[in-house]
This record gives sequence, C-alpha cells and structure tokens, in this order.
Amino acid sequence: MKRTLPVKTKSKTEFVEITGAVEDAIRSQGVDEGICMLFVPHTTAAITINESADPSVKSDILMVLNKMVPWKEAYRHLEGNSPAHIKASIIGASELIAVEGGRLKLGTWQGVFFCEFDGPRSRKVHIRLV
Ligand code: ZN
Repeated sequence: MKRTLPVKTKSKTEFVEITGAVEDAIRSQGVDEGICMLFVPHTTAAITINESADPSVKSDILMVLNKMVPWKEAYRHLEGNSPAHIKASIIGASELIAVEGGRLKLGTWQGVFFCEFDGPRSRKVHIRLV
C-alpha cells in the first residue's frame, strides 16, 4: 500500500499528531498485519513518536530544541532557515511501526507526530505498508 498524507501546519515550529490519520489510511486499505513506514520528504520537517496524552510533552521538546538550536547564529546557509534543517536532522525523517489488528502497535502513551520546523506550510508524509 502506498499513500501520501497531507499535513497543513500553522506555526513556525509545531508538532502535529498524525496517529489517527495514519491508522485511518491503514484501515482504508484493509491491512491487518505488517510494517508501516512513515517518511517525511522535507528538509525542514521530521517525524517522531512520543507521548500523546499530555500536550505539554511536545511543547517541552520544542522548547528544548529551540534552545539547543538558536535562530540567531553564524549560519552560512543563505535561505536563513538553518535551524530548521538542523532540527530536522536531529529528529529524523522516518519511523517504522508494526501494524497488528489494523492498528499501529504503539505503547499506551505513544503518538506519532509530524514535526514542523519552518512553517506554516503544506507538507506531506509518505505511508508505505509492507
Ligand atoms: Zn534552507
């Protein structure tokens, strides 16, 4: 199964939970078991798995990432968005998750988040199920 999930971001830096949308895509294909690969085809965005129960976890992660990678620095990349490129590389462009019973085999508190580091933009996540 090949699908592409559109993600619209609203802020400069933001985590958007996509767990439900990914599971809807899996269910729409009638897939019960397999491996789900999620891939972000952008250089200033990423994907991660972390706690979805308490929204302050994602704001804490963003707060620390913004401190680790300041916007003002002696960057050489002329586009002016080097911090977004660096954060995207720190977090990473893909995740692999087992699918069981038509659902992502996540832990109780886990959710899948699209990570925007240079928004707002129209983005996408490629979904491949094997
Ligand atoms: Zn750039």
